[in-house]
Amino acid sequence: MTSFAQISYYLKILGRGLWLRCPNCGQGVMFRGLFKMEATCPECHVRYERKYGESIGGMFINLLVVETISVAGYFISDALLKPPLIFQLIFWGTFNLVFVILFYRHARALWVAISPTASTPITVHEPGRGEVSAQADRPERKHDQKE
Ligand SMILES: [Zn+2]
Repeated sequence: MTSFAQISYYLKILGRGLWLRCPNCGQGVMFRGLFKMEATCPECHVRYERKYGESIGGMFINLLVVETISVAGYFISDALLKPPLIFQLIFWGTFNLVFVILFYRHARALWVAISPTASTPITVHEPGRGEVSAQADRPERKHDQKE
């Protein structure tokens, strides 16, 4: 597989994660409601999180994004507008709380899309096709080649 095809593949996977779609098939929705993630894809039945505690990765992405935006926003607004410090603290503190809640699903879905466990071969049951590899159309990753 060419590097362009690999880049295209990973962009597709990240896009599916950002749009809260199954990274494997792109059809199944990942969340029911604001915080409840499905265990498996309703379309292709691939398991989203296969190890206990994998949601920590989503929390890491969420905190990384919100803190990057907050710190950059603080310094940029301070340089351009010079607002009072108390205003900055209240604004960016509120921004942190709201953003973490609203970005929660996207951060978890992104983690599922890029999670290293997503590259380990698994088989899923697809109606009409029996047991099939969910990784059949995925390119091999480096740590797959070591084994
Ligand atoms: Zn799926």
